[in-house]
Amino acid sequence: MPHFVDTSPAGECIFCRLAAREIPSAIVHEDDLTIAFMDIGQVNPGHVLVATRRHADNLLELTDAEAAAVMQTARHIALAAQKAFPSAGLTLLQANGAEGGQTVRHFHMHVVPRHANDGIELTWPRKEPGAAVLADYALKLKSALALPPAPSKD
Ligand code: AMP
Ligand code: ZN
Repeated sequence: MPHFVDTSPAGECIFCRLAAREIPSAIVHEDDLTIAFMDIGQVNPGHVLVATRRHADNLLELTDAEAAAVMQTARHIALAAQKAFPSAGLTLLQANGAEGGQTVRHFHMHVVPRHANDGIELTWPRKEPGAAVLADYALKLKSALALPPAPSKD
């Protein structure tokens, strides 16, 4: 992942300025909730970012409607990328927080055409703690899911 981190305040970040046409970009698609544009870094040709139109720092700040719209746009971009930049594979990547690999603090999802030996790597340190631990983790999450949902911003 890149090391640059955009620390601009909410509403003045790179992607807010890009959506407002205050800085140049190569926009692919726009609708009420999302905007899709070419990633300036182009890890592979056809690498697109799908961002929320509204500023939201990360996944946790999205409305349900925005979360659904982002995935719908990402799928449409993926279908287009298969036609315009045919690839054997395709990866969606969405980072939250500096520790999660996020460098621009405005929600976005990467849509990246993938090829054999294209140099993209994600280290995935498996722990395999066993069934009892999995059941305990699942119980913790189910309890958390049972809490009342956060108020919707819709
Ligand atoms: P992430 O590390 O997941 O937060 O991804 C941020 C991405 O934003 C990187 O892949 C950058 O190449 C990309 N990026 C940063 N500035 C711009 C810009 N002005 N236009 C397009 N993409 C950008
Ligand atoms: Zn923003």
